[in-house]
Amino acid sequence: MELNKKNLITLIVSLTFGFIIFIYFVEQKKSEKINSIINNLYVEKKDLFLSEKQMIFSEAELIKDLIFDKKIISMIEDYIQNPGEKTRDDLIVELFPKYLVLKKYKVSQFHLMLPNGASLIRFNDVNKFGDIVNEMAKAANYIKFKKEPFSGFILTKEGLKFVNIFPLYKEGIHLANIEIAFNYRDFLMHVFNRHYIAFLIDKKFLPNSKMPLCKLNPNYVIDGDVCKYFNKVHVKVDFNKHINILGNYIVFSYPIYSFNKKIGYFIKIIPISSIKEIKDISLSYTNSVILIAVIYFIILFFLILYYRFVVVKRVADLDKLTQIYNRRGCEKFLKSYKDYSIILIDIDHFKQINDTYGHDIGDKILQEFGKLLKSSVRANDIVCRWGGEEFLIILPHTSYENAAEVAEKIRKKVEETKIFGNIQITISLGVSQFNGNFEKTFKEADEKLYIAKKTGRNKVIF
Ligand code: GH3
Ligand code: MG
Ligand code: MG
Repeated sequence: MELNKKNLITLIVSLTFGFIIFIYFVEQKKSEKINSIINNLYVEKKDLFLSEKQMIFSEAELIKDLIFDKKIISMIEDYIQNPGEKTRDDLIVELFPKYLVLKKYKVSQFHLMLPNGASLIRFNDVNKFGDIVNEMAKAANYIKFKKEPFSGFILTKEGLKFVNIFPLYKEGIHLANIEIAFNYRDFLMHVFNRHYIAFLIDKKFLPNSKMPLCKLNPNYVIDGDVCKYFNKVHVKVDFNKHINILGNYIVFSYPIYSFNKKIGYFIKIIPISSIKEIKDISLSYTNSVILIAVIYFIILFFLILYYRFVVVKRVADLDKLTQIYNRRGCEKFLKSYKDYSIILIDIDHFKQINDTYGHDIGDKILQEFGKLLKSSVRANDIVCRWGGEEFLIILPHTSYENAAEVAEKIRKKVEETKIFGNIQITISLGVSQFNGNFEKTFKEADEKLYIAKKTGRNKVIF
């Protein structure tokens, strides 16, 4: 394909289009990969969260089994048969040292309750008892009907708690409930790293709470210190989406249920820059975009350079109509050649052809004639349009006799060729060999051509 201005523009446009498609494709792939990393991270943290919750429950259960031995159980039985200060005090004396040990292991609450949820002994406040906290009554109900421990979040006036409540049976009789609660913050921090975590509680569950509203979504009150990362957030984040990307932060939200009701979310904020995998992927994609951009600009640069300094120059050396060398292009070769012959060709009665068939057909004949000449000589022979219907062929390293043979071959070929089916042309040719001076050599060929014309045309003179 010849590189002309039109082709060059097409090429640059396609190249640019290709480059844009590539960038788009890379961006697409990159965000796909990043999304999958973020999703995996979400699931990973969620699994960890659930398994840690399960572990806390198991730990609490183990503690319950260790503490509530036969002796304690029969003491509780005593209390139930004879509720009073004495039996209650006995229990406190027996259990309090154990509570002190548990406290060291981050147990935040150790609480003995009656099967209906009424408080019997709160070990962090032994003087207060007999009351029924609404949520404890709910948990007691749950245990009664499900006949299994309750483990989960509950919402109290003080805020969110993660509690494990175990029923205590003796011979099928439900004697008491035991609450063993850990500081949920401790275990969540353990799963999610100390920073960037918070609890959001739906405002409607804590209408009188003094906790601040969440900047990310004012439908929630927030317990935690993540607001400072979002000074300029005005959008209402939909935590139901589980994964939200806010500027440079990823916000993971894990729903918190209490008695099967969603009461809010636990959120974990992760600065995107802290995820090494994402950083690596971004870097490698950026590198490939840079690489392709550099290649793109290099190609563009050389293409324009090639066009500017090769194509444009070559075009100036070519004849517009026939696309063979013009006189200027031809003279370039003549400057360096020292051993050659020339054939000067003139189409016979071309004026008549123009008059008969019209100038346009005349042009087309010239084009066809140029092609015919080119196809009649060797690749290193140079065919030029010297002007009008006059052509010059330079035959490097060719003797006068051989050039004459070539000329005769061309003359015969032209004579036998019908252009456009029925138009026939003839040519006259003059042959000469380089004699040290091109002008003289040309003059000699021209004179021979003149003789050919004078003596009947359609002939070679050498
Ligand atoms: P002769 O056999 O003596 O060479 O006769 P001729 O008619 O070919 O010679 P003359 O020099 O009288 O006329 C040359 C004609 O070639 C005149 C001109 O219109 C025509 N010609 C020159 N350049 C072009 C061209 O680019 N296109 C067309 N269609 N005709 C051209
Ligand atoms: Mg002429
Ligand atoms: Mg002519």
